Amino acid sequence: MELNKLTAHELIGQLESNKIKPDDILSSLKQRIQSINSKVKGYVRVSDLLSPQLEARSSKLPLKGIPVSIKDNICTEGYNTECCSKILTGFKPPYDATVIKKLKAAGATILPIKTNMDEFAFGSSTENSCFGPTHNPWNLDCVPGGSSGGSAAVVAADEAIVALGSDTGGSIRQPASFCGVVGLKPTYGRVSRYGLIAFASSLDQIGPLTKDVEDNAIMLNVISGYDPLDSTSVNIPVPDYTKTLGKNIKGLKIAIPKEYFISGIDSEVKTCIEEAINQMKQLGAITKEVSLPHTKYAVPVYYIIATAEASSNLARFDAVQYGLRVKAENLIDMYKKTRDQGFGDESKRRIILGTFALSHGYYDAYYSRALKVRTLIKSDFDSVFKEFDCIVAPTAPTTAFKIGEKTNDPLQMYLSDIFTISANLAGIPAISVPCGFTKKELPVGLQIFAKPFGEEIILQVAHTYEQATLWHKKKAKL
Ligand code: GLN
Repeated sequence: MELNKLTAHELIGQLESNKIKPDDILSSLKQRIQSINSKVKGYVRVSDLLSPQLEARSSKLPLKGIPVSIKDNICTEGYNTECCSKILTGFKPPYDATVIKKLKAAGATILPIKTNMDEFAFGSSTENSCFGPTHNPWNLDCVPGGSSGGSAAVVAADEAIVALGSDTGGSIRQPASFCGVVGLKPTYGRVSRYGLIAFASSLDQIGPLTKDVEDNAIMLNVISGYDPLDSTSVNIPVPDYTKTLGKNIKGLKIAIPKEYFISGIDSEVKTCIEEAINQMKQLGAITKEVSLPHTKYAVPVYYIIATAEASSNLARFDAVQYGLRVKAENLIDMYKKTRDQGFGDESKRRIILGTFALSHGYYDAYYSRALKVRTLIKSDFDSVFKEFDCIVAPTAPTTAFKIGEKTNDPLQMYLSDIFTISANLAGIPAISVPCGFTKKELPVGLQIFAKPFGEEIILQVAHTYEQATLWHKKKAKL
């Protein structure tokens, strides 16, 4: 049996009945990675997989040694964490991110190789990685989405059991949609950001990418919770997210926002979403069209706030503390040369945009206005959630596009996040679940949003839908 193809909950079942050992899973993954990673390129620095100290953790703890794959911007003690940027070359954090500590405490095995990503999570296609792009397992000529494209692709290609990604404006959900896997962005504050290398601190959240909804709930159980090391983490109890799985959705009120069915949306994507909504009605949900009137401002507002925060977060990469240092005559030249050679084009573009938005004279016109509109976007959601349990919409307006198709047109690239960005601006949770395929066999993702800390309802709806359709069972032919 190819253990790499199974889900975490299937493997946990087999481990519990002593049919397999944790090391069996690890060797089946290693074999798969060695045979397929040169095509998919979902992992970076693959030679580190042979690291002699890597052994599956075998334990009585809940995750029982299940291997977890980690995005290159989440700190793992002793393993390179470089955000797929030259400027962090060779950086091995001296500590684990809180999510890694929690995973280890629950008995997970952390893979020493990390998943590919857009440099510092800036992008929607994983093409901005200093290691080159990841390829979509469903069509190797296409992008896997981004910025957590590596995490989504390795899960879809059965080179991983489960993975972690980060989502600032859609970076878990959009690649999950493009690769046909399940990806959840938790409520802002649900999961600690300690040890996540910051992109935009008021938007970033870590979340799981998995083969099905049950695995997503299992992972969320482990990584959630208050952390005194992250002052924005919220101190409210963590429920058992697996408990609501299997509950039916009869009588649940689902809102369909009309702004998410705009003219630019691909017709096959639209059909899949409409069929998914019908399916939910058949499962007993009550659906109604609603309006989120400020949706049209989400992309401009996001690109002001996210770049402003990014420009300030990236100031710490000064050639002194971590990673690359280019020799120069004096300190200022060292900063300049290191940042010039260390950052890729998209990072430089964001530093320039963000610095501009924050500069004296433009701050009020752009940054503080964007913050006000952000509040309006949040209140749109608040009023819908007064009446509805969740909102259902497409995750992305298209399926995976061709590698190279949008690299010369940053604005087109930015528009691919049009449906995911609002959840980050509002701080609410959202998931992407597979909901069908186009004629060209590319996956389509359905997005489900809920009010803050409404992950249980999201997982319940996603699971009921998933079990009724079984799209997640389809595998990419590689
Ligand atoms: N694609 C968006 C961006 O480039 C979102 C990225 C993310 O969520 N990290 O900013």
